[in-house]
Amino acid sequence: EYNRVYNFSAGPAVLPEEVLKEAATEMLDYEGSGMSVMEMSHRSKVYDKIIKDAEADLRELMNIPDNYKVLFLQGGASQQFAMIPMNLMKNRKAAYIVTGQWAKKAFQEAKIYGEAIEVASSADKTFSYIPDCSDLPIPEDADYVYICENNTIYGTKFKTLPDTKGHTLVADVSSCFLSEPVDVTKYGVIYGGVQKNVGPAGVVIVIIREDLITEDTLPGTPTMLKYKIHADADSLYNTPPAYGIYICGKVFKWLKKMGGLSAIKEHNEKKAKILYDFLDESALFKGTVRKEDRSLMNVPFVTGSKELDEKFVKEATAAGFVNLKGHRTVGGMRASIYNAMPVEGVLKLVDFMREFEKNNG
Ligand code: PMP
Repeated sequence: EYNRVYNFSAGPAVLPEEVLKEAATEMLDYEGSGMSVMEMSHRSKVYDKIIKDAEADLRELMNIPDNYKVLFLQGGASQQFAMIPMNLMKNRKAAYIVTGQWAKKAFQEAKIYGEAIEVASSADKTFSYIPDCSDLPIPEDADYVYICENNTIYGTKFKTLPDTKGHTLVADVSSCFLSEPVDVTKYGVIYGGVQKNVGPAGVVIVIIREDLITEDTLPGTPTMLKYKIHADADSLYNTPPAYGIYICGKVFKWLKKMGGLSAIKEHNEKKAKILYDFLDESALFKGTVRKEDRSLMNVPFVTGSKELDEKFVKEATAAGFVNLKGHRTVGGMRASIYNAMPVEGVLKLVDFMREFEKNNG
């Protein structure tokens, strides 16, 4: 009926087929409302249930304590690069750990608003590892410590959180959102664009401890960029990305059905192991990341030859394994294997790689 490919895109990325099918059946008439979720008022009773259920399911999945707000916002993860300093930089000072392009962009944006200090970086080895963050020179009066927890482009992940020395931890989890259990209490802010693991582009979810939501934002902060405005209105200050939130809600239900975040972690570890084990034994393909820092979600690899990389991507695409080309700054290949990528997809990719190696080794 459908000719679905194995989509290894870093984002927007593969979504659970079940979710897409369910959304398709509800497209013209959502639960007897006679209209699509795209067409309904965000102030309607029907929609209110959609957004409330989504929040409740996310709270259950992540075990989010009551003193944290969940905000469904717009502007992508990149808008948070500005919202975070605008709302949290009371002392106009913050510490940034730069582990890749997205952390660097957040760091550079923060410099517009105050003193952003790079306290650690892995730029010296093309961001192929996570620096030691056990004893960082964090200024006493820093408002927060910022990390990008999973580095989409480079395929690294913080396996232990940095020692913030008592400062608020702010984390971009765009590319590891809901991929494993998290202890929310360790963070002041957890946020991510949803277009990798959670839903369609256009929604960013911000989980923020209540005491960090204040009227005291930097002068000139636009109303739409104040956490308090959105928190007080339960994400309905203005028209939210309503359809996107509805799909996120379906993904949350799918995750609950899958057994929650511990179960999805096992599923993700299984997939990642298949691919990393192959890379470790292959004579042609090599992973680019220090082993202990490897991401479960994004797996970059190279052959060592630009021509072979290109040939591989081309042949893989023709065989139905798409979006395997690495980020333009790293080259080579990258397989993003988010929650919705089935084990079968990774097994078949590895079979294909083995065959390619045989023919080109
Ligand atoms: N942070 C991370 C970790 C990302 O991977 C991305 C997008 N690939 C972004 C931020 C930027 O997200 P957006 O396009 O939603 O602004």
